[in-house]
Amino acid sequence: MIEYPKDLLEFRDHFHSEAACRDYLIRLRWPQGWTCLKCGCREFWKMRRGVLCCQGCERYVSVTAGTLFADTHKPLRLWFEAMWHVTNQKYGASALGMQRILGFGSYRTAWNWLHKLRRAMVRPGRDRLAGTVEVDEIFIGGERSGKRGRGAAGKALVLIAAQEAGKGIGRIRLVRVASGSGEHLEPAVTQAVDSSSTVRTDGWKGYKGLKELGYKHDVIRPTPALGENLLPLVNRVASLLKRWLLGTHQGAVRPSHLDYYLDEFTFRFNRRTSGSRGLLFYRLLDQALHLQPVLTRELKAASPISANE
Ligand SMILES: [Zn+2]
Repeated sequence: MIEYPKDLLEFRDHFHSEAACRDYLIRLRWPQGWTCLKCGCREFWKMRRGVLCCQGCERYVSVTAGTLFADTHKPLRLWFEAMWHVTNQKYGASALGMQRILGFGSYRTAWNWLHKLRRAMVRPGRDRLAGTVEVDEIFIGGERSGKRGRGAAGKALVLIAAQEAGKGIGRIRLVRVASGSGEHLEPAVTQAVDSSSTVRTDGWKGYKGLKELGYKHDVIRPTPALGENLLPLVNRVASLLKRWLLGTHQGAVRPSHLDYYLDEFTFRFNRRTSGSRGLLFYRLLDQALHLQPVLTRELKAASPISANE
């Protein structure tokens, strides 16, 4: 692992120019040193605009090809600044905050950037939770968050999966679901949890089909003597998530933006032992390098409802 900035001053020292940002990307992408895929040569010349030229066969390689930054026309310094901002906001970054910090004229651009960064927070093909996993769903948003059965407009149903790790919580996954029926809950569990796992839920009928999907299904039945907290891990995640969302836009997270915040919360939660914000920045950058470029048109399906937030 290569060094990363610990605080704002170090961040500004590290990434004072485009060339410095590019050099950092080169070291992060090719920690063992760059090797030409065509001729095996390990030496290159640095050309303009982040292009490397192999000294053996004169093939050109872009430093940002195949990464989140591949088709951007904005300076890397600005992207780094955006990632530093995102990872340093305790309650998550808003598009408006991003617009102010980066000096963008358009809210839309800031919103697009946030959603591109989200792709780096949730890597496609990341491994699913395994072992013993608690699963439950909660309503987010609307007048009051709460349990199933009280569904109303403006609320979103979110499935929480929390991996047991000793007495605490390991990793989590959050998946937005259309309803609490098996038809929607089962694919969400499949997406979040490996089929070799034991899934612990309450007696809700929406989870009845888990056994057929190959899971060991551990159904917790409410016993008055034991009190209410039958799924302590998911309850803990749910309360942290609600508190975190309350701190974001004072809780006024639009349903259309909720997916972004769920992914950001998951990214932070699963790296909560990382300790430093600098390390969080490093992880996000590292994941951004291992993404195929996210084209702006892909984001269109998830357009913001209004440009006034
Ligand atoms: Zn070559």
